[in-house]
Amino acid sequence: MKKVCLHGVKVVDVHAHPYEGGEREDPASFLRKLSLSVIPDMFTNVDGLNKHEPYPGSNMWVQILLRKMAKYLECQEDLTSIVEARNEKAKDFSAYTQELFKDVNLQGLIMDFGYPTPPLERKKYEEMSGTRVWEIRRIEQVMTDLRSKRLQYEGFIEAYRNELQQSLSREEVVGLKTIIAYRSGLEVAEVNQTEAAQQYEQFLDDDRAVAKAFRDYCFHIAMEECTKADKFMHIHTGIGDGEVVLPKASPSFLLDTLRQEKYKDTKVHLVHGGYPWVEEAAFIVSILPNVYLDISLQNPFTGHGVERIISQVLELAPFDKVMYGSDAFTVPEMNWMGIKLFVQCFERVLNDWVEKDYMSHEKATYIGEMVLYRNFEKAYGVTL
Ligand SMILES: [Zn+2]
Repeated sequence: MKKVCLHGVKVVDVHAHPYEGGEREDPASFLRKLSLSVIPDMFTNVDGLNKHEPYPGSNMWVQILLRKMAKYLECQEDLTSIVEARNEKAKDFSAYTQELFKDVNLQGLIMDFGYPTPPLERKKYEEMSGTRVWEIRRIEQVMTDLRSKRLQYEGFIEAYRNELQQSLSREEVVGLKTIIAYRSGLEVAEVNQTEAAQQYEQFLDDDRAVAKAFRDYCFHIAMEECTKADKFMHIHTGIGDGEVVLPKASPSFLLDTLRQEKYKDTKVHLVHGGYPWVEEAAFIVSILPNVYLDISLQNPFTGHGVERIISQVLELAPFDKVMYGSDAFTVPEMNWMGIKLFVQCFERVLNDWVEKDYMSHEKATYIGEMVLYRNFEKAYGVTL
């Protein structure tokens, strides 16, 4: 049987964050950069381990990354050797990043400049990485910036809407993003002006306050503006860093909002595909024509789980609704590993389908290309 091979196919990473890099890492600092942990001291002691003992706190994704890096850097598989070898290469951080991106044919990224703070510049990241970068504007950042002006409620709402319109009018901005799942959760209610106005005070006191009615209103304004501009609304769904309101992070909470008549033309991008509620997300994109999902964060951070997830998402999600993503946020090895792992896992899934005679080898390959870049091109109206 002819094997499906996605090696060398163009890739667009539809969800990632910028970083500057360039500093020398030590084994513990490198492990910390690879982790979603919000507890900075989780990785401190990497000494005195037995030869085959995993690093304390490390999981499968770290294990697979270290193994792939050792192979790529042609060094021993222990963390000290790997970090030493990558530090040597990363002396010219831009060259190292470009080398890694070239190795996996990463051609473009949609980036959320809302993390890290203060925000980095798109142009700088583009130059450093030699890759095209499209931007999404995080609404919570707009809200927080405006908060410092201490405006009256009406003034705030007007300035907020204007700022969103301004951002959306920029060519390189492909949409807005909300992390409401980190604040009041995805169970967004209908607009309640009175309550929203009342809760604005809570937000003025603390920009991370729940202030649900106020946040829900800001969410609806963003949806309206994306609809008008015909650009994407990115919604964080599922797990994230340790701050997420996990009991209210399932994409199923969004269904009532998304199926409203007024949003039937709104383009929505479910960031992180709702992991661990991936089947719910797959169902939602299968019933709503303008809603898409990406497989970022769960890829690569679930390690071997990526293979199961791709298979599971595609149980229900239409082939043209799923896009590749990584959520890489600190070092280029994350972007690189995201593609390495995803491609390997996807090939296994596709080859299994060909073997079972569900489809031809050619169709399986085409589906692979769709998820890696074609769906992005079509949905975002971009030609690479
Ligand atoms: Zn992210």
